[in-house]
Amino acid sequence: MGLKVCKFGGTSMADGQVMKKVKKIITSDKDRRFVVVSAPGKRYSGDIKVTDLLYKCYDEVANGLSCKEAFAKIRARFEGIVKELNLDFDIASILDETEERINKEKSADFTASRGEYLSAIIMSQLLGAKFIDCENVVFFNEHGVLDSNKTYKAINEALKGAELAVFPGFYGQDVNGKVKTFSRGGSDITGAIVAGAVNASLYENWTDVSGFLACDPRIVDNPKKIKSLSYKELRELSYMGANVLHSESIFPVRRANIPIKIKNTFRPEDEGTTILPIARYSPNGSIVTGIAGKKNFTVIFIEKSLMNSEIGFIRKVLSVLERFNIAVEHIPSGIDTMSVVVESSAVEGYKLDQILECIKFEVEPDIIRVTENVALVATVGHGMSSSVGTSARLFKVLADANINVKMIDQGSSELNIIVGVKNEECEKCISAIYHEFFS
Ligand code: ASP
Repeated sequence: MGLKVCKFGGTSMADGQVMKKVKKIITSDKDRRFVVVSAPGKRYSGDIKVTDLLYKCYDEVANGLSCKEAFAKIRARFEGIVKELNLDFDIASILDETEERINKEKSADFTASRGEYLSAIIMSQLLGAKFIDCENVVFFNEHGVLDSNKTYKAINEALKGAELAVFPGFYGQDVNGKVKTFSRGGSDITGAIVAGAVNASLYENWTDVSGFLACDPRIVDNPKKIKSLSYKELRELSYMGANVLHSESIFPVRRANIPIKIKNTFRPEDEGTTILPIARYSPNGSIVTGIAGKKNFTVIFIEKSLMNSEIGFIRKVLSVLERFNIAVEHIPSGIDTMSVVVESSAVEGYKLDQILECIKFEVEPDIIRVTENVALVATVGHGMSSSVGTSARLFKVLADANINVKMIDQGSSELNIIVGVKNEECEKCISAIYHEFFS
């Protein structure tokens, strides 16, 4: 089929036994040549992920203490894995160097990145593959955004002559030459970057679930599996909290039209979910592909007579939020009304009062009102645009379930319908919509 880049998540790296499964998966297909790994995740419920242990190390260092005690747990974890795998290399001195550098660098990003660094070294030893440190091949620009030209060039340079290579996920180098991480879960992004750089035919993302489900299984028992979906649908669903994949991880592969496959390390025979560019995607006959929800939004509602004819009204409102450096999630609007939806954590405390005062000053609204504790529930699917009566069904089922809809936003692409409901009604809302379209 052609070159595949495989990313293995934290649970796939949790201990030596799982790492052996990973090796089997990689060596069973000669197209699987470039591998990206996460730091070891939880081995059992209640266990602590290595990345979280590392953040604890950093807390010690930041308080002027030595991280010796906190690092001892990490040391034991990696030494245990090397022993389980029966590998013959000097992990002890690599761990010594790592501890020393954590104490010296005093950087949260550097410290957190060491989980991926160490697990990639071990995986490369296990596979007999080249280890490529992302500190030397993944670059951020002065705005903290990936410098893809420089990164792609460096990755291809480092891969010259390598049959099999392992990259640590989650980090790269900033413009000052310091290690910088992506946001949590960011090894997915590294996987997509490597896939984009080598123009892979497929980006395989190996996790501990057999792909995407039509909604959260904690809300609905045994929801339908999604066999395939488009990048756009994935973006909508993962932004709204369906967190199988990091929501930013699709951009590098989408740009190059590379399909993504979500697979389960513990059940490799399961088909998984394929994510395809729209040109290669054909909806599987269902109107709705998936439903996802996210809690804790704040809605600022503004009403003013003749708002529609007041040139620059929306711009003035948005410029206030820009001044406060707040990202706007949605802007549902009517002729004389508009709402601005933001994440509640962004406008906590006195900030919200200040924002309201500034908006009043800028546009003199007739009414300005705030609703907090709002959950957004997105119903997503390309099938919705060609099917008459979808929104009628959706709102009827919510009315029947006695759910008060506080806000509606239908993206102009007709790919989704987003409703705002009370936080505490989020699960009930998702379940009602799921049963309407899938039962
Ligand atoms: N280890 C990092 C985290 O726990 C990154 C990742 O696993 O993708 O967030």
